[in-house]
Amino acid sequence: METIFSKIIRHEIPAEIVFQDELVTAFRDISPQAPTHILIVPNKLIPTINDVTVQDEATLGHMVTVAAKIAKQEGVDESGYRLIMNCNSDAGQEVFHIHMHLLGGKKLGNIV
Ligand code: AMP
Repeated sequence: METIFSKIIRHEIPAEIVFQDELVTAFRDISPQAPTHILIVPNKLIPTINDVTVQDEATLGHMVTVAAKIAKQEGVDESGYRLIMNCNSDAGQEVFHIHMHLLGGKKLGNIV
C-alpha cells in the first residue's frame, strides 16, 4: 500500500527535495533530529527491508552513493554523518516505504 512518500516522489505533496533521479528521491525530514536530516527513498515502493529482492540491489547500492553525494552537498562529509534504515516495530519504522536517514551536522550519540 502506498504511503505519503509515493506522493512526495510524484511531487503531489510538498517536500524539500534535494536530489531526484530515475531510481531514488531524497528530501528533508519534516521533523529533523539533527541539523542535516535527509531521507533517501527508492522511487519504487518497497515496504520494509524484508521485502528487498536481488532485483533491488542496484537501487539499494545507489541509495548509498546518493547519500555520500548529499553529505558532501550538505558539508557534513568530513565532519561525519550516520545512515540509518529502520525495519518494523522494534526499530521504530513508521513509514512503510523503505528509506535511509542521513543524519549529520552535530555529534551523534552512540547507539551501537
Ligand atoms: P521511520 O521511523 O524510519 O519510518 O522514519 C520516518 C520518517 O519520516 C520520520 O523521521 C518522519 O519525521 C519522516 N516523515 C514523515 N512524513 C514526512 C513528510 N511528509 N515529509 C518529510 N518527512 C516525513
